[in-house]
Amino acid sequence: MDNIDLAHNVLKHNGLKQTAFSSEIIPDNSLIDSHGRIIDYLRLSVTERCNLRCSYCMPEEGIRLKPRSEILTWEEIARVVGIFTDLGISRLRITGGEPFIRKGLPRFLESISGNPKLKGIFVTTNGTELPKSINGLQRMNIAGINLSIDSVSPDLYRRIAGKNKLDSALNAFQFILDSGIRLKTNTVLNKFLNESEIIKIAELARTNPVDVRFIEEMPFGGNSNSFKPKLSADDVINLFDRHYNITPVSRKDNSTAALYKVDGFAGRIGVIAGYSRTFCSGCNRIRITADGQLKNCLYGGRVLDIRNLLRGGHDDCEIQNSIIEAVSGKLEDGFAASRQIKSHPSESMSLIGG
Ligand code: SAM
Ligand code: SF4
Repeated sequence: MDNIDLAHNVLKHNGLKQTAFSSEIIPDNSLIDSHGRIIDYLRLSVTERCNLRCSYCMPEEGIRLKPRSEILTWEEIARVVGIFTDLGISRLRITGGEPFIRKGLPRFLESISGNPKLKGIFVTTNGTELPKSINGLQRMNIAGINLSIDSVSPDLYRRIAGKNKLDSALNAFQFILDSGIRLKTNTVLNKFLNESEIIKIAELARTNPVDVRFIEEMPFGGNSNSFKPKLSADDVINLFDRHYNITPVSRKDNSTAALYKVDGFAGRIGVIAGYSRTFCSGCNRIRITADGQLKNCLYGGRVLDIRNLLRGGHDDCEIQNSIIEAVSGKLEDGFAASRQIKSHPSESMSLIGG
């Protein structure tokens, strides 16, 4: 039996089905790919724009932004969220570009927070434009924030991010902790980081209950130069091992991060092997770009023009059928996905929605 047969080998049971790989009973119209993976996590980009210019994300010459008319409106995004939660999406991550620079984000988050099918709304942000009041943040019902922070040294932060915003990012770090929202940090293992800076960043987890994660750099810097990551997840784990007494935390099926407890630390440290792609077998995620294109994989192409369907007068049911079909074609892993688009994937992460 091949993978497609396996995925379709579902046990019909009173409008519920059970996948060939999981004993979990899931609603009949849930998203399952041809490898039997249940897709319940959507990463939704709400803007291509950003106030920073991180060297690994944006080329120096900048990126070509789409006209506003091509970007989904808040009303369209709210409809998309409803369509996807009816298809079993229960975790939603808002990303960008920088999501907090799009006007109306707080109101939008408040408006979808009552959706009973959503177990959690998460946001990835550079933190520099976070709302200034804890009440404001709490009203948005955010279950967790991933804060990107690429250095804790002011000069280095400016060299990497293109702006002198370390203080704002560190204020956001403290502010999120104070607000009681679950906090994880992301640091891209970019060419500017050396071992001592990595350890300085890891130290954020010493007294704070936060997951500090280091992400392998991926070929999404928006330029076509040949790409070679400087540091791998394994290099960083070896570095942790030399500095600390670490114990691996058992990994959830669809988690991208390998996390470690450290003796004497309140938080945890870890790595995300985004370039090595060692976690694809448990992938439960899909993405929608700010202009409404569905992507099954960061490394793959756009598989469905949802904006066109929304604006073409299609009803939710028709759109859902197209989504079910597009998601069923999700490829086995990021290597297969990048082979399919043939060219080197060099689009800026700010356009894809990281
Ligand atoms: N602006 C927000 C931020 O920086 O958190 C959200 C968008 S950003 C594209 C989402 C995540 O993608 C960030 O954690 C960023 O560090 C990561 N990212 C961007 N370019 C990357 C690359 N080339 N390789 C690995 N991660 C990258
Ligand atoms: Fe902006 Fe985030 Fe890209 Fe940095 S990583 S340039 S903050 S979108």
